[in-house]
Amino acid sequence: MSFVNGLICRECGHEYPKQAIHVCEFCFGPLEVDYDYEKIAKNISRAKIQKRDYSIWRYKELLPIDDSPTVGTSVGYTPLIKADNLAAVLGVGELYIKNDAVCYPTLSFKDRVVSVALSKAKEFGFETVSCASTGNLANSVSALSASAGLQSYIFIPNDLEQSKIVGTTIYKTNLIEVNGHYDDVNRLCSEIAGSFGWGFVNINLRPYYAEGSKSFAYEFIEQMGWKVPQNVVIPMASGSLLTKIWKAINEFHKIGLIDSFATKVFGAQAKGCSPISTAVKNKWEIFKPQKPDTIAKSISIGNPADGYYAMKAIKDSGGWSEDVTDPEIIEGIKLLAETEGIFTETAGGVTVAVTKKLLQNNQINKNESILISITGNGLKTQEPLINEIDMPHTINANIEEFKDLYNIITNNSKEDMKKCLP
Ligand SMILES: *Cc1c(COP(=O)(O)O)cnc(C)c1O
Ligand SMILES: [Zn+2]
Repeated sequence: MSFVNGLICRECGHEYPKQAIHVCEFCFGPLEVDYDYEKIAKNISRAKIQKRDYSIWRYKELLPIDDSPTVGTSVGYTPLIKADNLAAVLGVGELYIKNDAVCYPTLSFKDRVVSVALSKAKEFGFETVSCASTGNLANSVSALSASAGLQSYIFIPNDLEQSKIVGTTIYKTNLIEVNGHYDDVNRLCSEIAGSFGWGFVNINLRPYYAEGSKSFAYEFIEQMGWKVPQNVVIPMASGSLLTKIWKAINEFHKIGLIDSFATKVFGAQAKGCSPISTAVKNKWEIFKPQKPDTIAKSISIGNPADGYYAMKAIKDSGGWSEDVTDPEIIEGIKLLAETEGIFTETAGGVTVAVTKKLLQNNQINKNESILISITGNGLKTQEPLINEIDMPHTINANIEEFKDLYNIITNNSKEDMKKCLP
């Protein structure tokens, strides 16, 4: 049974039948999936959802495919952690981490969007899929198309981390590095999409792809006992994830799965690529594109496709946005690792550091519940940490050498403790 009427223009409301297009031919506005919410409300309930498998497809009525999913059937339902250690350091009472650093199969939230996009691509009959990526999307499209038996062409900027490249080519794809930033890659891909007849997950399949992000919010709401945190901090690249989290919360309310809520969404960016947060902080109506220069490459989009809608969601919810420097990002990664035992990538460092800053600036009330969205895994972005972390102690296989070392280590920590005493 399908709950999708078709596509609808976000700007002029013009309706289109289901097809692989993403731009309105009347006003050039972006197209969005149009659901029959009355029908969904009649067909879905908490009890029904709770009986299903633990994946994004628990919420399949709110995802835009017509038949059963065929790609990424095990994706999603990542852990929600009550982060009491980090809460104590930040001086807040109720703090949660939604941990997509362990999303299946490629360790980022992009597995959510790609399983929806490729399930839809199969329904449309595409045999070749493609994407423009900052790294994590490349990993996910490559892995999930391998398992789905689809051919793939993946386009990335030429400055990505080693793990993002190995974690793409290992699945046997066609990986094309384009000289330039993501925005150059994206521009090229828009041209290619027009002439090659492929399913481009974030271009002509974008309306379907983007809906996959909603599952991140459906899950944390269910995991919190059908409650919504009062503050949600979200990293922004194109701004799609933030926009869709806000949409998901509103949908759950609209179809009666949750009562009224008072939730603010907060956007997190790196200072070296902060078109959306700069616009929010200056109260501009539109953002100014930037040339990215930051270690947070996975969220380096200088001309964000959903930037305008992300700004609107932030404003409508009463939230705010911040950006942090590269040293602050590294501090954020370390803080999360040392307090909660979670190793996140640079984008997660951005989100943790921005949360800290929003608390310091009283943009988030420390007495309210807060959820930090961790979207990617630290093993994929090790380069900027190499000179910032402790190196191993090296000894020979000799107990005396270890005893000497042990004395040094314990004396050092006694010194550290003395420093901490009042
Ligand atoms: C892609 C990505 C984001 C943000 O994506 P949007 O384009 O804003 O939806 C956040 N974190 C990580 C790790 C990503 O790879
Ligand atoms: Zn339109």
